[in-house]
Amino acid sequence: RKFVYDFTEGNKDLKDLLGGKGANLAEMTNLGLPVPPGFTITTEACKEYLESGAEPAALRDEVSAHLDALEQRMGKRLGQADDPLLVSVRSGAKFSMPGMMDTVLNIGLSDASVAGLAAQADNERFAWDSYRRLVQMFGKTVMGVDGDRFEESLEAAKQAKGAESDLGLDAADLKQLVEDFKQIVVEQTGREFPQEPREQMDLAVRAVFESWNTDRAKLYRRQERIPGDLGTAVTVCSMVFGNLGPDSGTGVAFTRDPASGAQGTYGDYLQNAQGEDVVAGIRNTVPLADLEGIDKTSYDQLTTIMETLETHYRDLCDIEFTIERGHLWMLQTRVGKRTAAAAFRIATQLVDQGLITEAEALQRVNGAQLSQLMFPRFDDTVAESGEVRRIGWGIAASPGAAVGKAVFDSYTAVKWSRSGEQVILIRRETNPDDLNGMIAAEGILTSRGGKTSHAAVVARGMGKTCVCGAEELEVDTKRRRLTAPGGVVIEEGDLISIDGSTGKVYLGEVPVVPSPVVEYFEGRMHAGADEADGLVQAVHRVMAYADRVRRLQVRANADNAEDAARARRFGAQGIGLCRTEHMFLGERREMVERLILADTDAERDEALGALLPLQKADFIELFEAMDGLPVTVRLLDPPLHEFLPDITELSVRVALAESREDANENDLRLLQAVHKLHEQNPMLGLRGVRLGLVIPGLFAMQVRAIAEAAAHRKAAKCDPRAEIMIPLVGTVQELEIVRDEADRVISEVEAATGTRLRLAIGTMIELPRAALTAGQIAEAAEFFSFGTNDLTQTVWGFSRDDVEASFFTAYLEKGIFGVSPFETIDKDGVGALVRSAAAAGRATRPDLKLGICGEHGGDPESVHFFHDVGLDYVSCSPFRIPVARLEAGRAAA
Ligand code: PEP
Ligand code: MG
Repeated sequence: RKFVYDFTEGNKDLKDLLGGKGANLAEMTNLGLPVPPGFTITTEACKEYLESGAEPAALRDEVSAHLDALEQRMGKRLGQADDPLLVSVRSGAKFSMPGMMDTVLNIGLSDASVAGLAAQADNERFAWDSYRRLVQMFGKTVMGVDGDRFEESLEAAKQAKGAESDLGLDAADLKQLVEDFKQIVVEQTGREFPQEPREQMDLAVRAVFESWNTDRAKLYRRQERIPGDLGTAVTVCSMVFGNLGPDSGTGVAFTRDPASGAQGTYGDYLQNAQGEDVVAGIRNTVPLADLEGIDKTSYDQLTTIMETLETHYRDLCDIEFTIERGHLWMLQTRVGKRTAAAAFRIATQLVDQGLITEAEALQRVNGAQLSQLMFPRFDDTVAESGEVRRIGWGIAASPGAAVGKAVFDSYTAVKWSRSGEQVILIRRETNPDDLNGMIAAEGILTSRGGKTSHAAVVARGMGKTCVCGAEELEVDTKRRRLTAPGGVVIEEGDLISIDGSTGKVYLGEVPVVPSPVVEYFEGRMHAGADEADGLVQAVHRVMAYADRVRRLQVRANADNAEDAARARRFGAQGIGLCRTEHMFLGERREMVERLILADTDAERDEALGALLPLQKADFIELFEAMDGLPVTVRLLDPPLHEFLPDITELSVRVALAESREDANENDLRLLQAVHKLHEQNPMLGLRGVRLGLVIPGLFAMQVRAIAEAAAHRKAAKCDPRAEIMIPLVGTVQELEIVRDEADRVISEVEAATGTRLRLAIGTMIELPRAALTAGQIAEAAEFFSFGTNDLTQTVWGFSRDDVEASFFTAYLEKGIFGVSPFETIDKDGVGALVRSAAAAGRATRPDLKLGICGEHGGDPESVHFFHDVGLDYVSCSPFRIPVARLEAGRAAA
């Protein structure tokens, strides 16, 4: 195995091995772009190190060979006293994890070589500044020194000098700072800062390997669902310097606006600085366009390179570059992260430019982005009316509308959000240690840093609202307050609103309005209505691509006409689950109580008789809303405890009444019934078909209501397409009994009304036994609908009402699963049962219709799985229908 690749040896498709950074540096090198020479140590080497605790035996020699070649090429040796070659050592995994892992610049500098660097560059300040940065970065990331110690020391030096930024420090100040920093290293670690260049490099490589497993990196991976065993590659790249003076600098650029998708070049530039300064948001940057005035040659060259990259990658690219004394160098590129709105716009723009196909466009967006676009946003009429006070205006870094209580540190953000508060995390700038707080917060507000600052990049990745660089806001984290112009002070706990789409910050709570994308799906906005903005138009087009190619149908879980109508507007092709128990809540609950309490046939018939017309009316409305489309009505499957009074409350009431000797007969009967029906886990007790089998007449009443409603609609020359679904079946015998009864009732209604109804009868598959005997069950079922909520509960033995609150957090933290199996289908367990049951069912009955109506029906990853398994449709709540349509299209494209 080969552990080290020169930049000339790799290409962009080797991300598994070289990481994103290494693979793309190789690609750019081979495109002939100006990349400083270097090499990449593979993820394989990292994995071996992490597994065994030692570098692979062959690694040292391979690195030596590549370092020799690099030294030859550059004409100087690493750390050579009179003219040192310096290198950067950077992490770079297959998936970008911004700021999560370590990087060390200026490796090779030492007491011996700093003067050589100064002489070569003819710039003493630069040499000491570079050395100062090395001791600081190396001290922190490789030797584990508390980074604040360096910051404090740097701050003290600036104050002593009266300097506003680090630029105010001269060579002598920086030289002193290097001494101070080295002293801090000794104090904190008991070791000297290593002077030997190769030792510096080897230790830095090892530190990058180890940074794969820091807590913050693990947390980020879990959030982003990046597998934990990929490891990181390490790139070793000859240094170029952006801190050589005003003719040097460093920047980050995008080939289009990553926030809006608008065409044109975007980015931030920082004169006389090294790369990390931009991303860390240490000093405020200037817009990339200003570079044209500063260094036109480099600017023109950069824009040409950006065009080359976009055409080559056929996508938005982001770039890190450095200008060293007027010479442009490319330090990194990758297909850039973007907001949800930008993703849709860019995908359609690239189709129009002929760079990608419609099928590819579908892969450039995803359901999570679409659901983000369906979030509400601030009501401009209020926001701009003067009713609320605007206190700041920063950079719109990640869109959305967030309202919450101001908090100034991650710990408080997490603590408050755990107790149910919505919080906005306010920081001067964020760093990777703020990750927990960023996850907990509704939104993030910083006073420093540009669109590419840590806060902005991470928030965009998480889909979290973020406003950054709101410079006129003074953030005082120690005193937990923010001061806005005009002396407005916001203390911890005060409500603020931030708009990540405009960058505006408001005191108090701004009301939110629905998103234009939802207005479009609702049919209240025409696709062409937003020419200027183009977002709705782009969504409209992408949805059309998805609908053209998808094989899966998408139905809705809906129990009333209103939801059904909305679902239809959102593109539902029928109802996959009407939970009839939802029709018995509210005022009708008492009627169910009476049914449960009935002792005699007469009492029961009376209770059922009262329910029948109500049910029939429900169904008529539903069939009307879904006229011409299938409607799967599930017979009653109530968790009974939801229909009966709370056992404790009722016991107290009866006990009190008894003590006053005025106990009421009905309460006493009710209490008896509640005791009898009380279950430890009501989700596994008297539910579904079991209830239908023990309460005579119940299912017959429902079937009659469905049949009569259908007949009624037919008489009105409409097209009702009801399907009757039996819940919680475990064995075919249960189904046969209910079926016989249903067939009888349907025939009666057909005879009485003189109509042929053709009502399909099917079952839910939501118990392991049903899945395991699906071949038998299919003999009595015309369709299956997988109830993956109950199937997950019963396959795992997880009580669906209890586990998420009790131990799932621990399971997620321990990495037992990356996401709750109630959210994304557990492919290996529950999913395997779905797959085999689908096959067994179709073996018995080739035209068996297959659907899924558990919560997973609207989950992007699960939709792909159901596509692969060959189901006919997924059914989900109305608001998730567009996401399911899109993902079904992506699965098929
Ligand atoms: C299921 O179990 O997946 C299902 C759809 O039914 P319910 O959630 O109503 O139990
Ligand atoms: Mg169920």
